[in-house]
Amino acid sequence: MELPNSARAVVIGGGVAGCSVAYHLARLGWSEVILVEQHELTEGTTWHSAGFVGQLRSTVTQTKMIMYSAGLYPELAELTGMDPGWHGVGGLRLATTPERVEESLRLAGAGETYGLGLSVLSGAEAKEMLPLLDARDVRAALWLPGDGWLDPALLARALAAGAEKLGVRIFTGTRVTGLDVVGGEVSGVRLALGAEGWSVQADTVVIAAGAASGRVGRLAGVDIPVVPIKHQYVVTEPFDVPSSMPTVRDPDNIVYFREEGGGILVGGYIRTPEIWDTGHPLEEPRTLFAADMPKFQESWESAARRVPALGRTGIVKVVHGPEAFTPDGEFLLGETAVRGLWAAAGFCVHGLAAAGGVGKIMAEWIVDGSPEYDVFGMDLRRFGGHARSSSWARAKALDSYSKYYDIVYPGEERTAARPLRRSPAWVRHAELGAEFGEKSGWERVNWFKSNAGPSPEAGEARPAGWAGRIWSPAIRQECLATRDAAGLFDQTSFSKLEISGHQALMRLQRVCAGQLDRPPGSIVYTQLLNEHGGIEADLTVTRLAEDRFRLVTGTAFGVHDAAWLRGHGLDVRDVTSAHACYCLWGPRALDILGTLSDDDLTFGYMRAREISVGNVPVLAQRVTFVGEFGWELYCPSEYGLTLWDTLMEAGTPYGMRPAGYRAIDSMRLEKGYRVWGMDITPETTPVEAGLGFAVAKDKDFLGRSALEAAARRLACLVLDDPRQVCLAGEPVRLGGEPASRVTSGGYGHRVERSIAYAYLPAGTVPGDRAEVGVTGTWVGATVVAEPLYDPASSRIRHLPA
Ligand SMILES: Cc1cc2nc3c(=O)[nH]c(=O)nc-3n(C[C@H](O)[C@H](O)[C@H](O)COP(=O)(O)OP(=O)(O)OC[C@H]3O[C@@H](n4cnc5c(N)ncnc54)[C@H](O)[C@@H]3O)c2cc1C
Repeated sequence: MELPNSARAVVIGGGVAGCSVAYHLARLGWSEVILVEQHELTEGTTWHSAGFVGQLRSTVTQTKMIMYSAGLYPELAELTGMDPGWHGVGGLRLATTPERVEESLRLAGAGETYGLGLSVLSGAEAKEMLPLLDARDVRAALWLPGDGWLDPALLARALAAGAEKLGVRIFTGTRVTGLDVVGGEVSGVRLALGAEGWSVQADTVVIAAGAASGRVGRLAGVDIPVVPIKHQYVVTEPFDVPSSMPTVRDPDNIVYFREEGGGILVGGYIRTPEIWDTGHPLEEPRTLFAADMPKFQESWESAARRVPALGRTGIVKVVHGPEAFTPDGEFLLGETAVRGLWAAAGFCVHGLAAAGGVGKIMAEWIVDGSPEYDVFGMDLRRFGGHARSSSWARAKALDSYSKYYDIVYPGEERTAARPLRRSPAWVRHAELGAEFGEKSGWERVNWFKSNAGPSPEAGEARPAGWAGRIWSPAIRQECLATRDAAGLFDQTSFSKLEISGHQALMRLQRVCAGQLDRPPGSIVYTQLLNEHGGIEADLTVTRLAEDRFRLVTGTAFGVHDAAWLRGHGLDVRDVTSAHACYCLWGPRALDILGTLSDDDLTFGYMRAREISVGNVPVLAQRVTFVGEFGWELYCPSEYGLTLWDTLMEAGTPYGMRPAGYRAIDSMRLEKGYRVWGMDITPETTPVEAGLGFAVAKDKDFLGRSALEAAARRLACLVLDDPRQVCLAGEPVRLGGEPASRVTSGGYGHRVERSIAYAYLPAGTVPGDRAEVGVTGTWVGATVVAEPLYDPASSRIRHLPA
């Protein structure tokens, strides 16, 4: 078969990911797709993988992807003519501590909401299912009948065979040595072939090069922060283990195992992982490392405690291979900074399980512009510019590997590679005992310990369960101060994008659902929609001048939103680092700012003005995310510390307090303000989300034709027991039947209610009853009219009395 000179798409890498992407592109009808692999198929990481397909993950999208895989794999033999050796034996996930039981119940609750078949067993029931287990310390086990395992190489070959059947051409022994980029768009790949080499023109290229993806990405100057880390498993001699044995995960002991050849295959995570330090990952086929039994000792001993028969069994095989990890343990999928150049890599020991879903998502994304699932958590544009730093990526990846099986409490903060990005006022926050959280590398204040004070009611106020774990009485004090006087919030980490030029308005009007054709000084809250009407971004747009607009979006969303806009023909300048931003909100905000400015501060809601605050030039935007009167105050970064000090000095006598993101989150729930990635996603439309008010009726825009009457609506629930607080992901039942899951939840200190939002059938009305599963406990809840706080918004719109 001869290599062509051009192709519709070139997939680089013949591992399970590349084969699945090629197969799914062909399934969506793309012809002239070629796959190039430098060795034989699967000879990177795939061939030696342990073959587990476990569906339950901590994120909805990962679980959905693996559910899709687990549905596809048993059918592959028929679809492709090649059997991947699927063993649908089911899987057990053990819990030996009260905290792990809570986690299991939370995961089981979440699983219910997306139709994952699973049940909660006792330790004795788990032992009955698998008599080899020592289950004396097992407090509970999740049983996932749809889990299983297969032969990794056969899986990749089956996907490749399926792709070939649909017209994909596969070229092995063909190394990519260059990527051609013209005007920011990929135009082809260069291959090592003969003395001259060979070029294939293509405007769609997918890097699925496993642990070598970072290296291949650099051929086009893009950063794909995969970190190759060594991972190990062993296989014992046979001892009559039945082939029907379920797979087992024992996260408290950081091991997993299954049957293999009548013996057991034991894999384990370790606390001291090792990077594969090479400039040429996967350049040799079938790379394995020497066995490192000292590193495997803990896993082996844990497994032998769990399956005592292992203590009498010898190890006959050790597999120690490279795997591509990522800074946050999530996959790296999507389009790179070069248009048409995509990546599907960084599978963190789930590549096999996820491959089906990865292929589906990537193909939909490439062919249709957006995939069915919300993939922001895996979108490779989720990192900031620091993604190019290998020392940053390595520190983060080692950290996430070493804590892989630890329980992840929502709101828990990792410490690796911090601090990185800091606001000009960071020093002041540190002096005040700020509890910092990290987002996209930014240090952001969660709350100020100095606000906790001696609070006699603190013990009583602490929410029950997980919501009370990462919590402080300071959050309440910050909310109440904002309600009664003022709060000062450092939101410097906001992503700020600028678009200018004579076509700026016209182009923005095309992608924004809101009406932007308003006078300079106007601020518009708007969404960017995809072709299906799903919300791709949620931001404010300030018209700074006739032909100049500033977009403000969430800390973590700047790179993503800018890429979306650029993908739709806009010229975007990221000015995040140029401006500090402090939000002064509360009924005394006008008094406080009045002491610092001679400017007229009475300009209206959703208006922006240039003013002076003390000696500092400021752009004041009359908007709020907490439901109180006030402004976002932007100044050039070098004035940032001065502005913070000025505001603190002026505000403190009025009872103003510095405040953090946890207070913002509580107050925005009370006001029903949506958060992108949680309440609103590419899978939800503005109509469903109750954001119809932000959609222009008098113009056309991308996604408009897909907006239709919604069958479900984002609804506000108040829990009967105010100490039971949701953290998102909890299942919601109506009439005892699974109905939905919580998109975001928390405690509202101004309304003294435990609040949760969830998509419910459109006919649901205030007063309807529901049940919410908070860590295994079903708590009654009532659907209420929203927002709960200041429904007429008089505190925002009018000047404080
Ligand atoms: C010990 C171990 C056990 C594992 N167990 C499991 C498990 O039980 N379940 C699970 O889901 N996952 C498991 N994994 C992870 C899983 O194996 C991987 O996530 C998956 O195989 C990755 O597939 P891939 O296609 O991304 O990468 P690879 O299989 O590495 O494929 C990438 C391909 O790209 C090719 N390539 C690279 N550069 C070029 C170039 N310049 N030109 C052309 N081709 C190139 C390579 O040769 C390679 O074949 C395990 C991993 C390890 C190390």
